Amino acid sequence: MELETFQKNQTLAMRKKFIGQSCRLFYSDDPVKIVKARGQYLYDENDMQYLDCISNVQHVGHCHPSVTQAAAAQMEQLNANTRFLHDNIVQYASRLAATLPEKLCVFYFVNSGSEANDLALRLAHQYTQHEDVIVLDHAYHGHLMSLIDISPYKFRKLSGQKDWVHVAPLPDTYRGLYREDHPDPAQAYADTVKDLIDQVHLKGRKVSAFFAESLPSVGGQIILPSGYSTKVAEYVRSAGGVFVADEVQTGFGRVGSHFWAFQMEGGVFCPDIVTMGKPMGNGHPLACVVTTEEIAAAFTANGVEYFNTFGGNPVSCAIGLAVLDVIEKEDLRGNSTRVGGHLKQLLAQLQTKHPSIGDVRGVGLFVGLELVTDRELRTPATEAAAQVVQRLKLQRICASTDGPWENVVKFKPPMCFSMKDAELVAHHIHLILTDMETNADKRDK
Ligand code: PMP
Repeated sequence: MELETFQKNQTLAMRKKFIGQSCRLFYSDDPVKIVKARGQYLYDENDMQYLDCISNVQHVGHCHPSVTQAAAAQMEQLNANTRFLHDNIVQYASRLAATLPEKLCVFYFVNSGSEANDLALRLAHQYTQHEDVIVLDHAYHGHLMSLIDISPYKFRKLSGQKDWVHVAPLPDTYRGLYREDHPDPAQAYADTVKDLIDQVHLKGRKVSAFFAESLPSVGGQIILPSGYSTKVAEYVRSAGGVFVADEVQTGFGRVGSHFWAFQMEGGVFCPDIVTMGKPMGNGHPLACVVTTEEIAAAFTANGVEYFNTFGGNPVSCAIGLAVLDVIEKEDLRGNSTRVGGHLKQLLAQLQTKHPSIGDVRGVGLFVGLELVTDRELRTPATEAAAQVVQRLKLQRICASTDGPWENVVKFKPPMCFSMKDAELVAHHIHLILTDMETNADKRDK
């Protein structure tokens, strides 16, 4: 059956009529209608090509033929639930296990990052028998009610902070409490978590979990200071809690040098629970929680079945396996290191020309460009960041902003992003900032 195609304005009218308005569109003044995509390129209804710097979900490239073929082949064969024995789920779990530290070896497959984090909360609660959760400021961990509660980015605008939730300062060494000039920001930020744990105990409560993204993304593409996670894990575990690493955005080699961003910490650091999602199925809803045998055993011990209708079905796992194959075959981690490094270097060069660039940071293809109105004061340039995104769109480059002040232009493209793409992005940012600065000068005169 051929689906009907609508004119763009008709699609927009129907979207407004039938789809909840809290489901927002990119570029709400003039949304882009995308009808096709390949690799790192999107195509609109007039076949105009856009460079996609946004879609970290389409990790190995939009509509990668190996992934679509694996999906179609398995869909023709079987798609049943996980109460039947099947090879795909066990093969996939064992392939994922090979990327992780040995002690992270028990998997639960789910359908979204939110489901993964909700299950992580349950696992932590069941294992520790404690209730309280420590999260980082500005964090986002998902859209379920349980996760809104542990996402300061959301609960500040909604239900407020629950008494079992405790917010630790974001370890942002550019604009946070302790900055790059601090002798030991990792220890100083870890101490803030230790202080919170002490406060929790004073209230007669106990910590179940410390929850953090391995690289806080909504927080503004933050790189945690080296040594922070190790220290925090030590404090949290000695309080009887567990360390949960949310790798929903950062997993599957995005950082290039490692398969998981938490591995950048090095040493013996290993979270107790890791959640993963977005890039896992290259756009297909596939997510997962991995944990230790001890935590999984405590979850089993409650005697209640964990059944997830769609999680871990043969089609999802065939897709997941195909994604892993492509990452390896096409050396996408190597590409992420090379191209991400090049992009960061080009943006750092722009920083020497444009006073509005306060900071350039990132690792692999996870890069942020923080704009400021005053370099000394590091005043967030929220309006300028929005303008850069709008003007990039006119050049048919899709990017977006993040950070508590929405002043960080972020780049999390599909991992097949090329050197040429990085150069095009940097070139246009240079032209845009030059033009914005010239106009500001004219206004000031
Ligand atoms: N954790 C993080 C870090 C995320 O960025 C997101 C989604 N933006 C989620 C969890 C929730 O994932 P999902 O939208 O798949 O439920």
